[in-house]
Amino acid sequence: MMIRISLCLSENKLGPAIRELFMDNKSISSWIRQARYRANKKDIYSDLEISDVKLTIEKFKNKCAYCDKSKKCWGNDADALDHAFNLSNEAPNVPANVIPVCKKIKSENKGCDVASLMAAGLIKKTTYLKILKILLDNKGAQTIKSYIKQIMGFIE
Ligand SMILES: [Zn+2]
Repeated sequence: MMIRISLCLSENKLGPAIRELFMDNKSISSWIRQARYRANKKDIYSDLEISDVKLTIEKFKNKCAYCDKSKKCWGNDADALDHAFNLSNEAPNVPANVIPVCKKIKSENKGCDVASLMAAGLIKKTTYLKILKILLDNKGAQTIKSYIKQIMGFIE
């Protein structure tokens, strides 16, 4: 069951401090379980706890990471989770790779990571940088930095 309280409160413009998380513990831990399973299956580095994910959702103020002013769904509350860089492309399953999103965008973006969305002009560079700034402040930042260097073709 989703906690709908946050929707009403956000409409009243109350501060994020007193708002409930939109996604409840049960849906978050079920998403984490699936992500761990997929990571293990592909032998991808995985270190992700529910507290990490809740912290990330708070940092994004319960909003979808992708929805910006250029999109119709700007301001959507996050009601789903996604990896900024896909596990299917061997990105690590770490707090620095998890973003809250809205289901609408998640279904539209299927299979695209945050870098390719930016490259394709589907998200603005400022949105990309905002997402990375928050993510790289999370646990696993070093792992994600190495991953980005690798996909961009940098050689150590
Ligand atoms: Zn969205």
